[in-house]
Amino acid sequence: MSPSLSRENFFLTMINQFEHHDVKSGSLEQKLQQLILDIAYAVQQKLGLSTDIIQRVNQVFHEYQAVQLRIGIAHKGSLTQPDELFDASTREDQQQIMLYTEFIDEPDQLRRLYMEALISLLEAMEKNRLELQQCIQCKDWFIPYQRAQITRFCSSKCRNRYHYVLRKENDERITARS
Ligand SMILES: [Zn+2]
Repeated sequence: MSPSLSRENFFLTMINQFEHHDVKSGSLEQKLQQLILDIAYAVQQKLGLSTDIIQRVNQVFHEYQAVQLRIGIAHKGSLTQPDELFDASTREDQQQIMLYTEFIDEPDQLRRLYMEALISLLEAMEKNRLELQQCIQCKDWFIPYQRAQITRFCSSKCRNRYHYVLRKENDERITARS
């Protein structure tokens, strides 16, 4: 059993915030941004991952080893803190040992967030056939509902906005002609 390393579909949150992040050119953060975007485009166009992308993923994994192994005790579905691990009052027959991973950096660090985004994207691709689209109204990335016909909008709000603007432009054109 391989545990999940990331929050599910966390990449969507991150990828839609990239434009608000100021990253230095040539930095690890910029490399991660570009990589996540390139993978997203490959998924969108149903291309699969090229050997170039695979190589770049392995390079950043090598350059930045963001996760470490930890061990804890599962207790009624939750994981106790590592400090409690060696509590003598915990009897062996009640113990459910859990091996898990943890990010080495704090959750507010950009490189940590990007690494989790990259991992969540790869985990989503590993689990099932991932589909990705970009909203034609707001340009946000989203996962289309499985049974939807061709979805071009991330939400009904964007669909309504798009058609509203279209109608308004049409009306203005008609008004201008008369
Ligand atoms: Zn949208």
